[in-house]
Amino acid sequence: MVDETALGRRSVPISALEHYAYCPRQAALIHVEAYFDSNVDTVRGDLAHAAVDRAGAGQDRRRYPVWRSLPVWSTGLGLHGICDVVEFGEHGPTPIEHKSGAYRPGGPADLQVAAQVLCLREMFDAEVPVGMVFSGRDRRRHDVVVDITLAALVVSTAAAVRQLLDLSAVPQSVHDTRCHRCSLRPGCIPEAPAHVAHSLFEPRTETAWEWDD
Ligand code: SF4
Repeated sequence: MVDETALGRRSVPISALEHYAYCPRQAALIHVEAYFDSNVDTVRGDLAHAAVDRAGAGQDRRRYPVWRSLPVWSTGLGLHGICDVVEFGEHGPTPIEHKSGAYRPGGPADLQVAAQVLCLREMFDAEVPVGMVFSGRDRRRHDVVVDITLAALVVSTAAAVRQLLDLSAVPQSVHDTRCHRCSLRPGCIPEAPAHVAHSLFEPRTETAWEWDD
């Protein structure tokens, strides 16, 4: 596992990259403030994950070896996480990230699976050209080609998340369509004025929670 002290920097959870890509404030609320809440989408995701959350080795239908809930990390990039499934096929390891919803090419899940690919490249000294996102909506696997551009986006996003964690910073809310399906909305209160939203998670007396519109 990553020796953060020896590297002189923090290892970033791969899941935080996906959260940051969706909304930087969401990443901070989860990974800085340890705030989490559930909605119908997160519960659906938890149920979809039940089958792959049992760690261990096995075989898939094509008799390829698979590992479920496999810890992965990159010392070079300062990343760590857990792959839902890693299939060891003819061309080496391929991570398969399970999502309950629809797959959106170029979305946050691409960044998450790309980070897993980069970790597997380092761990197994293998090429690992693609990762996959399994969408529960269409029950299909979608290839995510991890080229130089996507790899660079993983690196730059990891640096941004690392800075967020180092500073314990909580960015302003985005207050747009992303908030509609965000499970953190009850605690985030994206419609709150900026000066209130900025300090929502700071301890205060009960009477100090009032604000004017
Ligand atoms: S409610 Fe909106 S601003 Fe708040 S974390 Fe979710 S997406 Fe971000």
